[in-house]
Amino acid sequence: ALSDSLDKTFRNLRGVGKISEKNIADALREIRLALLEADVEFTVAKTFIEHVKEQAMGAEVLKSVKPGEQIVKIFHDELAELLGGDQVPLELEGEARILLCGLNGAGKTTTAGKLAGRLKREGRRPLLVACDLYRPAAIDQLATVASQVEVPVYTPDASETDVVKVATDALAWAATQPHDVVIFDTAGRQEIDERLVEELKRLHAFLSPGETLLVADAATGQGAVSVARHFDEAVSITGIILTKLDSDARGGAALSMRAVTGKPIKYVGEGEKLDQLFEFHPDRMADRILGMGDVVGMVEQVAARIDEKDAMKSIERLSTGQFDFYDFLDQMKMIGKLGDMKGLMALMPGFNKIKKQLPDAAFDPKRMKRTEAIVLSMTPDERRRPEIIKASRRRRIAAGSGVDVIEVNRLLKQFGEMRKMMRSPNKMKKMMGGMPGMG
Ligand code: GDP
Ligand code: MG
Repeated sequence: ALSDSLDKTFRNLRGVGKISEKNIADALREIRLALLEADVEFTVAKTFIEHVKEQAMGAEVLKSVKPGEQIVKIFHDELAELLGGDQVPLELEGEARILLCGLNGAGKTTTAGKLAGRLKREGRRPLLVACDLYRPAAIDQLATVASQVEVPVYTPDASETDVVKVATDALAWAATQPHDVVIFDTAGRQEIDERLVEELKRLHAFLSPGETLLVADAATGQGAVSVARHFDEAVSITGIILTKLDSDARGGAALSMRAVTGKPIKYVGEGEKLDQLFEFHPDRMADRILGMGDVVGMVEQVAARIDEKDAMKSIERLSTGQFDFYDFLDQMKMIGKLGDMKGLMALMPGFNKIKKQLPDAAFDPKRMKRTEAIVLSMTPDERRRPEIIKASRRRRIAAGSGVDVIEVNRLLKQFGEMRKMMRSPNKMKKMMGGMPGMG
């Protein structure tokens, strides 16, 4: 799973401060695998990664998150942008016509019913027309669906073979019905065949619909590109409806189809029930394609809570070997701002492994409060030069902060160890890398 491989990437990148060709390479490889695992078509994945990589390299490095995480976030945002950048509602001006097309079993007939129901709930007056003349059962199926959503339907005679004739009759029928939009369900094939395409083209030319929507199974996979391209070339689709997202499909088809046609995804089907047609959320789809838990949410939270300049100032001081109780306080405040670290880190893939590397105290707000109280009870001189804090000062500080002198001793010991570590760059890198937001 991607979370496992990202876990590895994060481990590798922890403690690395900048995005470089070298450290971006690992993350890019993981993202490429994620895209392919999500069934994004190969060349689409490749092009997308090349494109985003260029931007990532040019982007200012966000210092308070790790490069691997930042790269994932950049990809996520680009992906969401690409999937839904020009998201527009259906074009339903005047007496609107919607033509649905797609392969057999993609979900056209079901989606026709869902769409009619949805538009009706939105206050429109839709009609349905059955133009699948290849299977008599298909006409009955649309009629059933139509009655379920309580939308009038035009069903041709079983003997009818010409779709344009059917469409002509349907429009004459529609003229007798109160309506403002007509939805045409069409025939599909297991694979694209010439006869089907010719028929669809004729119907499309006759209707010149405001919307020609490709209905496609989210699990279409590597075939998504050729399906989308064929239908787009034949009838110039205006949008895509992705069905069966409730299955375990990873949704890569969304990216593939969007990339080759440039046409927006208008809705997604998430179940067999007729009310399970939903607006498309590019953000959620990007999550799904990258399959990465909520790394993105985590990066956003960290970025929002930590003031980068503060973080950098303190890290710079540390790396020059200066470290006193003022720096210590700064750090505590920074960690404090992260709030519930456990909750935050639980969003991260591989959380349990990281948890093992951190002392429990890092997660304990009560202990942090007591530690802060101890430091606040020190005089400025003591904070700058902790080595002067001998027995009598320790007793005073303990009394002032309301803790046992043992705790003051423990803190001073910890502080001494931290300081020693600060002077050893390798050890420090390790430690800083273990803290979220300080990579
Ligand atoms: P068509 O051949 O393109 O008209 O496809 P149908 O509308 O007949 O759908 C084929 C099958 O997919 C039917 O069993 C539908 O119930 C099912 N189906 C359609 N959309 C969805 C969906 O969003 N989720 C699930 N789980 N099943 C769907
Ligand atoms: Mg059908």
